[in-house]
Amino acid sequence: MTDMVEWLRGAIDGAELAAEQATSGPWVAHSPGFVDVEPVSRGRFVAMAAEVNADGSHVPLVLADAEHIALHDPKAVLARCVGDRKTLSLHRLDGAAEGRLRGFCVHCGWRFPCPDVRNLAHNGYGYREAE
Ligand SMILES: [Zn+2]
Repeated sequence: MTDMVEWLRGAIDGAELAAEQATSGPWVAHSPGFVDVEPVSRGRFVAMAAEVNADGSHVPLVLADAEHIALHDPKAVLARCVGDRKTLSLHRLDGAAEGRLRGFCVHCGWRFPCPDVRNLAHNGYGYREAE
């Protein structure tokens, strides 16, 4: 099942491209719910964390949302992409295996895609099995 791995590589590439195209950081959240590029004195605004009601009116800004956005700034996403690619380079199909040894992960020995790759695909990037 290499479709999951190919899908995962594409998802990582997509996350990396989006991070590279975003305003470089670091991003910092500040009250009442703004996200700016640090240092804030540079005046680069990135996001405003506000909730919008169904009628289009805004409720007060949400600092916790701004802090969450800032934690996932481009630098953090790029670092995760590096780590996720490292996981994929470790957990890979043993292409040299033959016979009943075929189809297993060279790193952990589980049937491939192994639990680590499955976890990364499902929980890290939202992969869903075809139904
Ligand atoms: Zn593995």
